[in-house]
Amino acid sequence: MTQQVTRKDFDQYMIPTYAPASFIPVKAKGSVVVDQQGKEYIDFAGGIAVNVLGHTNDKLKQALNQQAESLWHIGNGYSNEPVLTLAKKLVESTFADKAFFCNSGAEANEAALKLARKYALDHHGAHKNEIVAFNSGFHGRTLFTVSAGGQPKYSQDFAPLPAGIRHIGFNDIEAAKATIGANTCAVIVEPIQGEGGVIPADREFLRSLRELCDQHDAVLIFDEVQTGVGRTGHLYAYMHYGIKPDVISTAKALGGGFPIAAMLTTDKFATTLSAGTHGTTYGGNPLAAAVANAVLDEVNQPEFLQGVTERNQLFLSQLNLINEKAAIFKEIRSMGLLIGCELNEQHQGQAKAISNIAAQEGLILLIAGPNVVRFAPALNVPKEDIETGLARFSSAINIYLNKD
Ligand SMILES: *Cc1c(COP(=O)(O)O)cnc(C)c1O
Repeated sequence: MTQQVTRKDFDQYMIPTYAPASFIPVKAKGSVVVDQQGKEYIDFAGGIAVNVLGHTNDKLKQALNQQAESLWHIGNGYSNEPVLTLAKKLVESTFADKAFFCNSGAEANEAALKLARKYALDHHGAHKNEIVAFNSGFHGRTLFTVSAGGQPKYSQDFAPLPAGIRHIGFNDIEAAKATIGANTCAVIVEPIQGEGGVIPADREFLRSLRELCDQHDAVLIFDEVQTGVGRTGHLYAYMHYGIKPDVISTAKALGGGFPIAAMLTTDKFATTLSAGTHGTTYGGNPLAAAVANAVLDEVNQPEFLQGVTERNQLFLSQLNLINEKAAIFKEIRSMGLLIGCELNEQHQGQAKAISNIAAQEGLILLIAGPNVVRFAPALNVPKEDIETGLARFSSAINIYLNKD
């Protein structure tokens, strides 16, 4: 055993890009996490919408271990069986004809934006390079994707930023009509803004983006990094809306805790990225692809997705009861197991404080900005854990209110 490490070592040895909790999780099973002190937490964060099948899922462990015995990494000079199986599965379950694999949501969006720029260049010329994105959107942290994101505080310190990106209001159809035009090569949008506060797009808004992109031969990119792989009770959120994008980016839940991401698109656009135009060393790594195959086999089943919708109902009925007593949220928004509770005027800026108290009570939560408490648990979170977790949430709210 090496010397015991503690939370203090984070401050001593790690670049302070994060401000992690005071406790350190050391093991987990299902939706229960245990820290260094042996304290148990119900996990309603799911590693930020990643651990769709809970922690250390037996089927995922089996897929990983089995692949670990045969082939870990081979590089993109060769293909491999797990990645071909995965591509086939994703294509057969979505609108897409082709897949490109990478390692994170940001990379999948980066690939999508590069695809759009090159498609427009190849078919229309260099003038058609504008990307339309939305205020409060989030697309990752590479320079291109953070510039596409709609929160200037995340990008402004890294200027000069990539040019040609315009931001308009989310769900603002008039602004979209006024902005998307002949020079637009791509529109990138989250069907539900996740980091921005769990804000679903209106169907009419997405429909007009679809029409405008068709009209101007611009690539409609749905960033499904957070909403994909069953999160909303549908395999992808575009299926709920009944609106087909040209590209989706998918990551987070795709590997159930193992890093993998993909960009999916149709043949029309896929040919743009011909051999040598884009790539990444680990993209389509056999270990990652083997785990993602196991994730999809579980999640992409009607009963499993139905279970997400049932769990949504359990969460909502309990959360509404809690709010009837506490009167703390002005709105509870959700689709499937992506749930956001927006604090009312009186409690502005207190989402983090509430999640800290929840942790003391043995509950791991997320926030989405200063005013929204967010839940993104495993999609198979046991119903008993939902009850226990929400009881802890209720006590956390009471503690918070009595402190006030
Ligand atoms: C998390 C997230 C990303 C970034 O994914 P990374 O894997 O952190 O790069 C992009 N878009 C959305 C909608 C996300 O929620």
